[in-house]
Amino acid sequence: MKSLTDLTFDNRFARLGDAFSTHVLPEPIAEPRLVVVSTAAMTLLDLDPSEAESEVFAQLFAGHKLWNEAEPRAMVYSGHQFGSYNPRLGDGRGLLLGEVLNDAGEHWDLHLKGAGQTPYSRMGDGRAVLRSSIREFLASEHLQALGIPTSRALCVTASSTPVWRERKESAAMLLRLAQSHVRFGHFEYFYYTQQHEQLKQLGEHVLRCHFPACLEQDAPYLALFREVVERNAELIARWQAYGFCHGVMNSDNMSILGITFDYGPYAFLDDFDANFICNHSDDSGRYSFSNQVPIAQWNLAALGQALTPFVEVDALRETLGLFLPLYQAHYLDLMRRRLGLLTADEADEALIQRLLQLMQGSAVDYTNFFRELGDSSPQQALARLRDDFRDLAGFDAWAADYRARVASEAEAETGSQEARRTRMHAVNPKYILRNYLAQQVIEAAEQGDYAPVRELHAVLSQPFDEQPGYERYAERPPQWGKHLEISCSS
Ligand code: AMP
Ligand code: MG
Repeated sequence: MKSLTDLTFDNRFARLGDAFSTHVLPEPIAEPRLVVVSTAAMTLLDLDPSEAESEVFAQLFAGHKLWNEAEPRAMVYSGHQFGSYNPRLGDGRGLLLGEVLNDAGEHWDLHLKGAGQTPYSRMGDGRAVLRSSIREFLASEHLQALGIPTSRALCVTASSTPVWRERKESAAMLLRLAQSHVRFGHFEYFYYTQQHEQLKQLGEHVLRCHFPACLEQDAPYLALFREVVERNAELIARWQAYGFCHGVMNSDNMSILGITFDYGPYAFLDDFDANFICNHSDDSGRYSFSNQVPIAQWNLAALGQALTPFVEVDALRETLGLFLPLYQAHYLDLMRRRLGLLTADEADEALIQRLLQLMQGSAVDYTNFFRELGDSSPQQALARLRDDFRDLAGFDAWAADYRARVASEAEAETGSQEARRTRMHAVNPKYILRNYLAQQVIEAAEQGDYAPVRELHAVLSQPFDEQPGYERYAERPPQWGKHLEISCSS
């Protein structure tokens, strides 16, 4: 275990030079105080958890102090936002402080979000508000615990620095960790500005640092694209299986590593709704829950376009064609597990679709349904869940087919409900990050009370475990919490 001063830096992205990023110092926020910290994220840096209690911790992560070896840089990128190309984006309010090399030989980017203005801030103030910083923190560490690839969050620091959004709020900083902050939009930037030499440098950096196995292939860039397609197929399958709605799937918010990245107005489904739009600013529903699948493919096509200087279009197109079948296979696999099935049957896809339609028609809670399905024997669980459905005939028909499907599996003969329950609870969370829960702890934190956000973070870090005394966090939203309007403004 290390102290904060023992970290080893190896700033590979900074060394790419000024075509890729600009040196900018963080602008500190006033009277910093630590809101919440992830000890799990601290271990990625080999940091001793007690380091979070030191005074220098909040100072470092509020822009007041900097390691000597840090090289703070704002990265340049572009990207497609809501389908239109924006030629110049970049880190407008976040800085890559440097890359920490841990004892396992992994590099972790330290990215300080809300660190002040940069050459890429456009009209923005370079700040992040406490509300959105807490939301990103909670989601990052919760998705990780759910087994969904994601950037990580080390801590949030609050301040007395005022920030104006729809109302007066206060500035905060989030320390984000990821093995890379390269987005699809980085490739698009160098492609559309016709800087093909830099595009190649970027590609080689990504291959060398993050996809070394692709360098062994005959066509490394095609292998890279294939890897990104595969990772995204799996990532989106996990989002869809667990009801996660990202909200702003612009190509600049898509990580080259295939991890969930740049949290904004995200939401987990409460009631199942395939058409759910979590982003209040998304009028057309481009990023609705069910659209996430075709939109991911659309974004991959945008990345593929940026790789055309290195790879034949036909080969890229063929590789892109792998996305949907791979997605579908992962999704079915996850949903079968959520239903407690051990084997695959051709009729499973229809069984799953019928269930989702029934849930949609009756506004059934997506998380609790699966958890309760594993709580007791199929017969007992279905009898209890039946009350939640309006189309009783439809539900009964589905339940009969589901019971027959469960009975068709070998385990039915051994008859161990205990094993089924353990297996299902290991994939069906009891606790999910519901927007109303986030809202409650944000309101407390805005009043200076950080105990609720810390407790919620702790509960959501063990989402599959029964946590006696904390059952209230598994409850469906109250009326006020059902339709919270979350916008891009953060
Ligand atoms: P986002 O919607 O957070 O993914 O951000 C889109 C772009 O706007 C990125 O280039 C951000 O760096 C930039 N941006 C967002 N908020 C701010 C802000 N408050 N100040 C400066 N730039 C911002
Ligand atoms: Mg972004």
